[in-house]
Amino acid sequence: MNKNTPRMGSYLFPILIVLMLFSFFGDYFSPYTEISVDQLVSKIEKGEVKEITSKGREVKLKLSNDTLVKSNLPREFQDTFYDNYLKDRVEKGQIKYTGLTESNGMALSTIIPSLITLVGVGFLFYILISKSANAGNQASQFAKNRAKLNLDKNNHVKFKDVAGLKEEKEEMYELVDFLRNPKKYIDQGARIPKGVLLMGQPGTGKTYLSKAVAGEAEVPFYSISGSDFVEMYVGVGASRVRDMFTEAKKNAPCIIFIDEIDAVGRKRGSGLGGGHDEREQTLNQLLVEMDGFSKNEGIIIIAATNRPDILDPALLRPGRFDRTIQIGMPDVREREEILQVHTRNKKLASDVNLANIAKATSGFSPAELENLTNEAALLAARYRKENITSDLIEEAAIKVMAGPEKKSAAVIERERKLTAYHEAGHAVTAEFLPELDPVHIITIVPRGNAGGFTAYIPEEDKSFRTRNEMKNRIVSLLGGRAAEELILDDISTGASNDIERATQIARSMVKTYGFSDKLGPILYNDGSGNMFLGGNEYSSGDHYSEQTAVLIDSEVTSIIKDSYDRAKEILSNHKDFLEELAQLLLKQETIRKAEYDEIAKKYSVKENISSEIEEI
Ligand code: ADP
Ligand code: ZN
Repeated sequence: MNKNTPRMGSYLFPILIVLMLFSFFGDYFSPYTEISVDQLVSKIEKGEVKEITSKGREVKLKLSNDTLVKSNLPREFQDTFYDNYLKDRVEKGQIKYTGLTESNGMALSTIIPSLITLVGVGFLFYILISKSANAGNQASQFAKNRAKLNLDKNNHVKFKDVAGLKEEKEEMYELVDFLRNPKKYIDQGARIPKGVLLMGQPGTGKTYLSKAVAGEAEVPFYSISGSDFVEMYVGVGASRVRDMFTEAKKNAPCIIFIDEIDAVGRKRGSGLGGGHDEREQTLNQLLVEMDGFSKNEGIIIIAATNRPDILDPALLRPGRFDRTIQIGMPDVREREEILQVHTRNKKLASDVNLANIAKATSGFSPAELENLTNEAALLAARYRKENITSDLIEEAAIKVMAGPEKKSAAVIERERKLTAYHEAGHAVTAEFLPELDPVHIITIVPRGNAGGFTAYIPEEDKSFRTRNEMKNRIVSLLGGRAAEELILDDISTGASNDIERATQIARSMVKTYGFSDKLGPILYNDGSGNMFLGGNEYSSGDHYSEQTAVLIDSEVTSIIKDSYDRAKEILSNHKDFLEELAQLLLKQETIRKAEYDEIAKKYSVKENISSEIEEI
C-alpha cells in the first residue's frame, strides 16, 4: 500500500462515514413527517392539501397550514393515485401538483446516496483488503525475518587471534582449507563434515573460534541462535530453517553458526508433558535440510552448545554434526596467551606481568579474561593513567569476579565488623590447612552480592583433588561462619554462599567420588536424568534405595559438621591472628598478598593438622 493512502484516508474516511449516514438516515433529518396512506387520502379529500410533489411512490405534501408531510404509496395504488384523487383537484387549481418522473428522481436523489454508499463501501473494502494483505505479508515475512541470518561484516578474527586451543584449531583448519579450495577435496573424493558441534561452557570461545574459521577462509560468517527458531506457532520454526538454508546456499561458500543448538536440538519425545510438537518439527526440518544439501555445496554449519547431553542423537549421526569438538576452560598457559592476545593493542605498564595475572585468574573463562583487559583499559582511561598498571588489572579482576564496588552502599558498622571477622575466618583457616591455595587478597568492600571476599591464588592448575584437599576446602569455606559465631556470638546470612558450596563439595565427595568409607567407591548419581533439563527419564536419575539415601544424607551431614568443628578449633587456637586480620580489615578494608604474608609469618608456618593423609 502506498505510503500516502493512510494519511489521505484519515480525513476522507470520516467524511465518507458522515455522507453514508446521511444517505441511510437522511429521512430522519428531513422536515417531512410521515403519514399513512389513509391519512393522506383523507387530507386530500378534506381539501387540507396545498401542494403535492410525487416522485415514484413517494408523495410529499404541503398542507394548508404549511406543515409538511409525506407518505409512501403502495405499488398497486401508485398508477391510479393521480387519476383517482388528484386529477380533478389539480385541474380545478385546488392543489398545486409537481410530478417528477421516476428516472429524474433516480438521478438526483437515489443514485447519489447509492453512489456515495458504493464508494464508501468500496473504500472500506479497499482498506480492509489492503490491511489484511499487509497482515498476510507480515505473517509470511514473520517466519522469514527473524530467521534472517546475521551477517558479521566486520569479522576480522583470524587464527592468530585465537590463543591456546592448539588441537582445536588444527581440526578447524581442515574446514578452512576446504572452504578456500573445495575442488581439491572434491577431486579427492574426501568427505568434509557438513556440521561441527562445539561443546563448552559459555564464554569459552565457541563463537570466536567459528568466526576465526570464517575469517581465515575469508567467507561470510552467518549466525543465528537456536532460540530464534523456537516459536509459539507451529510450523514457523521449520519454515525458518528452510529459509536459512535457502539463504545460505545463495551465499555459499559460507559458515553458518547456530548458537544454543540445544534450544531446537533437544532429544525428541522427552521432557515434561511429552514432546513439544513445534520444536520437534523444527528439529526434523533441520535434519532434513542437513541431509538434503550435498557435501560439497560449500556450507559448513558450526553449532554450539553447553548441554551436549540433551541433544537428540539423530543430530550427531554421520552427515550431520558428525564432528564434535570439546572446548574446555583455559589452563594457566592458555590464560596467559589469551591475555597476550587481548593486551596486544593496549599500553601496559612495566610492572604488569601477564604470567602472574594468568596465575591469579584460575577459573576465568576467555570471555572473562577479555573482559578483564577491557575493564583495566577503561579504568586507566577513567583515572587518566598513561598505561595500564598492575593495580588497575587487579581492580579490574576483582570487578569481573565480584561485580563493581558498591561505593554508595553505606555499610553499617556492625555489618562491617561481621564481614571483617567472616573474611578473616576464611583466611586464618586456610592458612592452617595443608593443600590449600595461598591467600591473594582479602577485602570487605562490598561488591555485587558479596559483602566482601577472600581470594586465593592456586599454585598450579589442578584437575584432580584429593579427599583431604576437598575436606580442607570445606573447612575454610565454613571458616567465615565459624568466626562469626566464635567472636560475635551471632551468625549472619552472609555465609549462605559458602554453605552452598561446602554442601556441594560434600555431596560430590560422597556421591560422585566415592570418598565415603561407609558408602564406598560407588557412583550414586549419573546426573543425566533430570527431566526438567530435558533428560529422558521420569525418575530422578539417582539409582539407590531409600536406606542409601538416608546414609548419604548422614555422611554429608557428618562431613559438614566435622568440618565446621574443625574450623572453630583452628580459629580458637589462633584467635590473635584472626583478631589482627579483622582489625586491619576494619581499618583499611583490603589486605593484599604481601601485607597478608607479613602478618601470617608472625603466627605460624602451615601446621599439619590433618592426621590421615590419603591420596586418591
Ligand atoms: P562462547 O561462544 O563460547 O560463549 P565467545 O566465543 O563469545 O564464547 O567468547 C567470548 C570472548 O572471549 C570472545 O569475544 C573473545 O574475545 C574471547 N575469547 C574466547 N576464546 C578466546 C581465545 N581462544 N583466545 C582469545 N580470546 C578468546
Ligand atoms: Zn564467606
